[in-house]
Formats: sequence, structure tokens, C-alpha cells
Amino acid sequence: MGMAQTARDLYDRVVELRRRFHMNPELAMEELQTAAHVTQVLRSEGMEVRTGVGKTGVVGLLRGRRPGPTVALRADMDALPMTEETGAPYASKVSERMHACGHDAHTANLLGVSMLLNQITKGGERLAGNIKFLFQPAEEGSGGARPMIEDGALTDPDVDAVFGLHVSSELPTGTIAVKEGVASASSDTAYIRIVGQGGHGAHPEKTVDSIVVASHFITALQTVVSREIKPNDAAVVSVGRIIGGYRSNIIAPRVELEATVRTLDPEVRASMRERIERILAGTTSAFRADYELDYAYGYPSQHNDEEMVKLVRAAARSVTSSDAETIPDPSMGAEDFGYFSSEVPGCFFALGVRNETEGLGVYPAHHPCFDIDERALYTGMQVMAQVALDYLERAFE
Ligand SMILES: [Zn+2]
Ligand SMILES: [Zn+2]
Repeated sequence: MGMAQTARDLYDRVVELRRRFHMNPELAMEELQTAAHVTQVLRSEGMEVRTGVGKTGVVGLLRGRRPGPTVALRADMDALPMTEETGAPYASKVSERMHACGHDAHTANLLGVSMLLNQITKGGERLAGNIKFLFQPAEEGSGGARPMIEDGALTDPDVDAVFGLHVSSELPTGTIAVKEGVASASSDTAYIRIVGQGGHGAHPEKTVDSIVVASHFITALQTVVSREIKPNDAAVVSVGRIIGGYRSNIIAPRVELEATVRTLDPEVRASMRERIERILAGTTSAFRADYELDYAYGYPSQHNDEEMVKLVRAAARSVTSSDAETIPDPSMGAEDFGYFSSEVPGCFFALGVRNETEGLGVYPAHHPCFDIDERALYTGMQVMAQVALDYLERAFE
């Protein structure tokens, strides 16, 4: 039986899985039920399964009868701490827990892909090489890809290439879109403390006003982007949190700030901490204050390999009979798929889930009314499966 027919037969099951995950969302690193269900489905397909990879991650392996390379396909499993407002019959059953980024769909889709590939290759009998299914925890925030890699997700057998997808409410249902080269930004965080000297609001001369110092620092900080980074090298520094002080007649002894730092180029990224600290040190010393800086490196930027992009384009064309769209600009958002694609060549692509007529997939990700047109999964699972098969086949040319 061909790919399209097999996908059609699996479709209802995949939608059922998606709804099950959607109704039972779990936060980052707490994906225990989700991981248990993923494990159960993979085992029932007769696959080799490793659980507890990077805490709650699951790795399934479809081992080919004949030797060959190993391709990995990845889905994320975590939900967000927010309350769903879709009113859908399959809405979240838990308050302040919602699959508002589509990771339920990614997980169901990848299970569909694993069943599809298992059937098409007759349990690996018709497969040269291996296909690994990476179900990762914690894409939102803390990042589950790195602990999975540290736990050996990309070894035994060693992974040669990796693919993943994200649903997109900006594209019509079933459309595939891809970006050559750098696709998303690195995401680091600066935790800053400006320490002055508190006192009475009426006697500033006896104090060092940390709020005034913080104000100068925030203004000067923007010159990192506007005056120090080349205009065609993208960078963003946003102070998203500022806290300090007691009331109007008390000079605040200290102010805490948190800033997100986004870049596309690894060299620019590496230069950011020094730039921020220099401005912080200069400003605080000019105003007689002290500072502390903690700089946390988060997700790396995500780069799509040229050859892997070609494979996704070819698979999209063969499955949908139309060309994949090109995403024109990299996103300053971050995606921890970048940890995987920093290790081996990879491609992360978008799957459209927007259906204007039926009002599905029209809200952006992280919105309390976010939902998807599930029919996109019919395309999503085939494109993903086709990419894996094409990669393994082509590696022999
Ligand atoms: Zn998200
Ligand atoms: Zn997401």
C-alpha cells in the first residue's frame, strides 16, 4: 500500500492522539503521561524504545534490516501555563495548562509518522539504515533538546541528520514552508542588579539612586544594537522586567532587571555579554553605583542545512504536488531544535494549519484561542515520512 493510502488509514488515529494530548496538557519537564502514552504507541508498533532520555524524553528506533545511515525526526511534547478559551469539545481539561503552541499536534504527527514508516517498511524489513523518533520535553523555556543530547539521544546508532516541524497559523492548511540557512535566533538572558544606596527621597545627596542609574543604563543599552552591531547583522536586546523601590519618598537601594538578548550570528552572540557588561560597568561607575551581572546562555540560533532543505522541498512537492513556500526572513524567536541541528545537519520547517473558512488555526501561537485545522496532519505526516525515506535512499548515491 502506498504512502497516501496508509496515511489516510492512519489519519483518524492521529487526530484522536492529538486530541488526547490536547485535553491532557503537561508543562515542561512534567510530560509524564504524554511520554508514557508515546512509549506505549511506539512499543505497540514493535519499536525499540528508550524512556527517561533527558528526564521525560522518549526515543523510538525503527531499525532497518540492512545497514545504512540514521535519520532522526523530532517532536516536542510540552504545553504552556495558560488557560484555554477555545471552547472546543477537545479543549484542555486542566486549568492553566494548554497546548497553545501545537506541540500536541507535533507529538501526534510524529507518532503517525512512526506508524506510517513502520507499515511502509514492514517493520524495517524494507529499510536500509535507521529512523529515530525523538520526543523531547520542554521546548518552551528551559529546553529539553540539550539534556536529551547529553543523555545520548543522538548516539547508538549515531544520528546523521535531523528533521522537525512546527505548525503555523500564518500558512493555509497543508502548506509547507522552509527557510534556507539561519532560521531562528539564539536566546540568552542577562540578569542585572544595580546597587545604589537607599535613603530619604527628600535628601538625594545622601544616596545613590539606583532607579536613576537604571534609567541611564536602559537608555544606553539600546546603543549596543543601534551603534555597535552592523545594521545588517540582526540583534535584539529587550529589557522585559524591572523591579525596585518601595514608595515615592524612599530612594530605591537597588534595582533588578532582566533582558532577553537575541542574535542570528554566533560571533555576534559571543560578543553580546561583553558589550552589555561594559555599558553596565561604565554607567554604574559614572553614577557611583555597583552592579552584578548573571548571563545565561539559552538556545543557539537554528540553521537549516542547504541539502536538508532540498530534501524537504522535494518531499513537499511529491506529497502536496506544489512547491514549498520560502520563508523570507529568519525569526528572532528561538527554537531549541537548534541544539539538534548544531550537532548534525538538519532542517526545521513549517506546516500550515490555517483554515479561514472554518475559522480554524486563525489565532497565533500562545493565544488562549489557539487551535489548528487537524487536516494538516495528513500532509504533515507524509512529508516527514517522505523526507526520512528520501534521506536514507540518497545517502547511498
Ligand atoms: Zn511556543
Ligand atoms: Zn512551539
